[in-house]
Amino acid sequence: MNVHETEKLYAAFEREGIGAADSAENADIVVLNTCCVREGAETRVIGNLGRIKKLKQSNPNLIVAVCGCMTQQEKAAEMLRKRCPFINIITGTYSLGALPQMVKAVRSGEKFILDLSVNEEIPMGINEACRSDNVNRFVNIMYGCDNFCTYCIVPYVKGRERSRRLADVKSEVEGLVRNGAKEITLLGQNVNSYRDGNNDFYALLSELSAIDGDFWIKFMTSHPKDLSGDVIKLIGREKKLANYVHLPVQSGSDEILKKMNRKYSVADYLRKIDMIREYIPHAGLTSDIIVGFPTETEEDFAATLDLVRRVRYNNLFMFIYSKRNGTPAAIMEGQVPEAIKKERITRLINAQSEISNELASVCVGETFRVLCDGRGKNATGKTSDDRVIVFDDGGADLYNRFVDVEVTSAKNSKLYGRIKV
Ligand code: SAH
Ligand code: SF4
Repeated sequence: MNVHETEKLYAAFEREGIGAADSAENADIVVLNTCCVREGAETRVIGNLGRIKKLKQSNPNLIVAVCGCMTQQEKAAEMLRKRCPFINIITGTYSLGALPQMVKAVRSGEKFILDLSVNEEIPMGINEACRSDNVNRFVNIMYGCDNFCTYCIVPYVKGRERSRRLADVKSEVEGLVRNGAKEITLLGQNVNSYRDGNNDFYALLSELSAIDGDFWIKFMTSHPKDLSGDVIKLIGREKKLANYVHLPVQSGSDEILKKMNRKYSVADYLRKIDMIREYIPHAGLTSDIIVGFPTETEEDFAATLDLVRRVRYNNLFMFIYSKRNGTPAAIMEGQVPEAIKKERITRLINAQSEISNELASVCVGETFRVLCDGRGKNATGKTSDDRVIVFDDGGADLYNRFVDVEVTSAKNSKLYGRIKV
């Protein structure tokens, strides 16, 4: 989401005649687009500001702006203002499109701008397809989140759930495809609750799949409580929908899922997984897991390991629980000591590596259609089920083209292959 928001920021600046610099050292303006989902992200912002302070010392005209989720929190904005008085602009998540104007105001002499206003309208202006060169093109279909998982800060900094109009999403995707895009990733905190009038996520996917052209559609993130059987069947049927589902489970313990307010049980989750396996041929599955949520016992964690071994994800995004002020979990009794969290995440990483290695090695000899997103001897390409294959492009420029690649070896869950002629 943030990567895409940053792309849109580039586009908003470009429209005002401000282009990208090749490095922070050569820039007139530095924008930090922050995240506050975990503490680590916030710590990195502070570290980066240390580096920017030095740049500002050697170039006093440098304009420094900090925006995004972290600074949407009043306390964080205040703290940064005090700690880093060299910052010119602090804004949150709602005013990104106005940043170029704020920069202009600073150029005309304004000393400091703070804008944490909340505006839950769909930011039309910055939704226009931006000029990123990435093979993968992101399209926002909705903003905000209403789920209030007890560990998560997102609903507090991104506001209530709201969907873009189907016609707007469709015309953006059509434009991207017309310009040669081959992979479209639809973005939303919970894409399954997309709704524009009578159109739900199923209707949106059906409409987008009907667009002419050779491309595939991926999306994230799906919430297990809302991913419907109809959508699963549609993914299985519709060629343009990639056979990839990112379905964050967070924990394998019913007790913890309840405390997380996830609104599904392990059995519900596994039923969805079984359905995915039944209806989507060669489905690629990935997930997010949090270890060390308050009160997580060894038994709860063992249940998570069991679930991971049962589902056999292609890949897992694993996080140590990070206390976020203002969320219900932050004040729950039974916070898990850091040492135990670290020990558990190591065990989870090891379990997943074993599975990823096994799943990779059975691909040897198989041929995949890949979308090439690199060049040279170690070119890379992505499969429909979101695996990465490394191969030699033989000097042909295959960037942003589909090619058939046969997997010749697998090493530490990585796939290597050769182009099939
Ligand atoms: N809306 C998506 C993703 C939200 S944030 C979803 O519901 O899945 C991405 C991931 O960050 C989450 O899936 C979760 O695993 C992780 N995360 C969110 N808050 C966290 C916290 N306080 N500590 C650790 N991980 C967290
Ligand atoms: Fe956070 Fe839960 Fe919303 Fe995802 S669904 S953004 S984890 S509150």
